Amino acid sequence: MGRETDVLIIGGGLVGASLACALGQAGLRVTIVEASPFTVDQQPNYDERSIALAQGSQRIFAGLGLWSALQDHVCPIHTIHVSDRGHFGFTRLRREEEGVPALGYVATARTLGKALLERLAELDNVEVLAPAQLVDFLVTGDIVQAGLLVDGKTVDYTAKLLVAADGAQSSIREQLGIKTTQRDYGQTAIIANVSTDRPHHNVAYERFTDSGPMALLPMTEQRSALVYTVRTAQADAVMALDDAAFLAQLQERFGYRLGRFLKTGQRYAYPLFLLRAGESMRPRLALIGNAVHTLHPVAGQGFNLGLRDVAAMAEVVMDAQRNGRDIGGSMVLENYAEMRKADQRRVALFTDGMVRLFSQPLPPLVWLRDTGMLALDFCPPAKRWFGRLTMGRSGRLPRLARGLEL
Ligand SMILES: Cc1cc2nc3c(=O)[nH]c(=O)nc-3n(C[C@H](O)[C@H](O)[C@H](O)COP(=O)(O)OP(=O)(O)OC[C@H]3O[C@@H](n4cnc5c(N)ncnc54)[C@H](O)[C@@H]3O)c2cc1C
Repeated sequence: MGRETDVLIIGGGLVGASLACALGQAGLRVTIVEASPFTVDQQPNYDERSIALAQGSQRIFAGLGLWSALQDHVCPIHTIHVSDRGHFGFTRLRREEEGVPALGYVATARTLGKALLERLAELDNVEVLAPAQLVDFLVTGDIVQAGLLVDGKTVDYTAKLLVAADGAQSSIREQLGIKTTQRDYGQTAIIANVSTDRPHHNVAYERFTDSGPMALLPMTEQRSALVYTVRTAQADAVMALDDAAFLAQLQERFGYRLGRFLKTGQRYAYPLFLLRAGESMRPRLALIGNAVHTLHPVAGQGFNLGLRDVAAMAEVVMDAQRNGRDIGGSMVLENYAEMRKADQRRVALFTDGMVRLFSQPLPPLVWLRDTGMLALDFCPPAKRWFGRLTMGRSGRLPRLARGLEL
């Protein structure tokens, strides 16, 4: 039979690690399996990319007891400013209008990863296997059997539930034959931390340009996190620019709202694509995070969406556990899939729609979208909808995202 656990989580990215925290501190036996060494310096997904955490994600982290470790290392967003380069459209969202202390918070993936790893280390009922890999799995009746490769040896596990948090290239999704819809955006995001000669005043800028969206997110110490989308064919050339030429290009694309661009840190490139899985569950198996939806980073939605998957999964599993039901049973997993379907669809369509709409050069479409942006500023119901979506508060929310206990 091998070793036993309640929940086997494959993938220790930000989403898998968040789920391990949620279920671990609620008292379940959790085993998390990560292919890379599980330290802040060696886990490649705990990198320098900045993550705009929606207000709903702040609530989830607070509910998981993680916010106190994060709050001194994140920068609050007070205003979001969206504009269309070279055209008249712009819109703003302010925290005062939404009645919240912050619309969201910016942290690096590394900061989030560090807080998650520290919390996991405190939980005796969470077992971390890394570097380790899932080799195969088999669902038989009320258990799932998994073969793991740990330190070059095969170790067998049985669990009540297996969760695939193994990212965009999910091998579990592939082995299950779950179909995906994919779109290559032909765009690459170049990220770097930059400094400018004017303070950011906690404003997050999203500027649509003809090569793709460009975001400057406020960070601690008056730095800004740049997410600069370029056509993939030009990405190597932009990465090869020296710092002065790179800063000059940013200046030309972004303008002077933050004054002059003074300095840039190291640059990293991420090719962008959309991936949506057709299903998020099978008997005894659930998919969460990038394994179900990998999005364009426009409007910073991917991890926020994945964290709501975590909150929903933790909720249905813990409800079953408290009521003495099978935590990997079909009712539990169907509940999870049902709870997440609308949000996953809405956010994927929203980000994909934004990217496509703003890459249209046709004048009537440009006029329509810019008029729409201005109208958003004057139409309270539309603005409220936009605000709720941006803050991760639209649709049916899991308890943690509503600020309630798990
Ligand atoms: C440039 C950029 C900017 C972004 N900005 C934002 C933002 O502002 N806000 C936001 O919400 N989101 C943002 N995102 C999205 C966010 O980064 C992702 O949605 C999130 O990191 C996905 O996490 P994950 O854990 O689902 O997947 P991953 O990070 O891909 O983790 C999957 C893990 O599974 C492991 N694994 C895979 N297969 C196996 C196996 N067989 N056995 C064991 N382990 C395995 C991998 O090693 C990996 O560690 C951004 C993304 C990019 C590219």
